[in-house]
Amino acid sequence: MHTIPDRDEVLASCHVVSIPMRVRFRGIEHREAVLFEGPSGWGEFAPFLEYGDAESARWLAAGIESAYAAEPARVRDVVSVNATVPAVAAESVGAVLARFDGCTTAKVKVAERGQALADDVDRVAAAREAMGPHGRIRIDANGGWDVETAAGALGKLTAYGLEYAEQPCATVEELAELRACLARRGIDVLIAADESIRRAGDPLRVSALEAADLIVVKAAPLGGVAAALEIVEASGLPAVVSSALDTSVGIAAGVRLAATLPTLDHACGLGTVGLFADDVVDPPMAPVAGVLRPARPDPSVRRLAALAPSPGRQAWWRDRLGRAFDQLVADGAGR
Ligand SMILES: [Mg+2]
Repeated sequence: MHTIPDRDEVLASCHVVSIPMRVRFRGIEHREAVLFEGPSGWGEFAPFLEYGDAESARWLAAGIESAYAAEPARVRDVVSVNATVPAVAAESVGAVLARFDGCTTAKVKVAERGQALADDVDRVAAAREAMGPHGRIRIDANGGWDVETAAGALGKLTAYGLEYAEQPCATVEELAELRACLARRGIDVLIAADESIRRAGDPLRVSALEAADLIVVKAAPLGGVAAALEIVEASGLPAVVSSALDTSVGIAAGVRLAATLPTLDHACGLGTVGLFADDVVDPPMAPVAGVLRPARPDPSVRRLAALAPSPGRQAWWRDRLGRAFDQLVADGAGR
């Protein structure tokens, strides 16, 4: 284990950035992050604004690992990335997918509030049409269905050939109930847990309750690449790596995790820098021909300065980073 760097040194040398989003996502129009450089490269600290110090400390552990730890041993140099289709009208699906050069897997958002199941069916049908018979299609309900609605919807949507259904229901208990219900009704579709995987203990619970066939993991919330690897191994479930709406620095950590997993049979949700109107490096960690490769993004001071938010926001983030450091040290001492 690498050591925790000097708190005050990191606080003094870190850069706070605010990146404008192309589209409002997760209710935000700007993604704020703190970046700092260590001997191994850059690290990112960007817990979502509502997260408390305990949760933020794990994001910091991931950032410190990225900047200070040795490069993990890779088992692959190419990571396939999925295209994402938001809850758009079926007529727009082809145009959305055309923007993802070379992606052979599409994730289609379903269960959007204010829409009907027919909208989901039409959107998935349009995605199948655009991807062809060999493309993979997964759906993501972001926990938007109850068990009965999910079973009904999946019964219809499996006709289009689903790789898996991501977080069809909100809770781990509902996911377990849904899997039992699908089995009873002979509906053959794999279930992935995404939002249900936020803390280190969650994958074990998902696996103990048989709530999912695979898990979606993100490097930052789980405390970094090494921690995420341990968690995946302990769960005994196949994993897919996804982003936490990271800048290119955080995406690179996600690619390191994906490149290190012993088995990886699904495209990863790491093609998200396109949601940003700007980034800390040029070019950003965007997929080329449907894949990402391990890299160490190196933001320039000029670029970081250009993306700096107001002094008030910078002070807010430095304060939060300091508290996360204190928490991390306390967690380490209590271990
Ligand atoms: Mg998801």
